[in-house]
Amino acid sequence: MAKECIKCGAANSFTKNVVFINIKGEEYCTKCADEYIAKAISGILITTTNNIDGYTVNKYVDIESVEIVVGTGVFSEFTGEVSDFLGSRSSAFEQKLQKAKQAALDALRYKASENGGNAVIGIDLDYTEFSGNRIGVVANGTIVLLTKI
Ligand SMILES: [Zn+2]
Repeated sequence: MAKECIKCGAANSFTKNVVFINIKGEEYCTKCADEYIAKAISGILITTTNNIDGYTVNKYVDIESVEIVVGTGVFSEFTGEVSDFLGSRSSAFEQKLQKAKQAALDALRYKASENGGNAVIGIDLDYTEFSGNRIGVVANGTIVLLTKI
């Protein structure tokens, strides 16, 4: 039997190429997977501090770490003037880093939702440089279950 999206029923055909993402053993198309993840993380609070005003930590679930690796591109393409580098090119690079940072935080929130937490506290973001013009954004945090005071 051909694979199909568990939610919307999308399947591969001669005219359509569906990319599937496996979530907990179920196959989702990318659109439904995005919706699933967006819903899962929507209620998850994140903070760099160790507590959130108005809430108390009910349970420490786990310490998690996620890493998003991005190609910088900008460095290998860099041949022009410094002003060029500091201008549009650096802002394109910053946007890339911003996106990677957001993806790392979303991944932490997703892990929280999957593991019975409702917040990630004490978040720490680090950037690591790899060879081949790649940069990794590493996000660490503690998944907790908070309750309102
Ligand atoms: Zn679908």
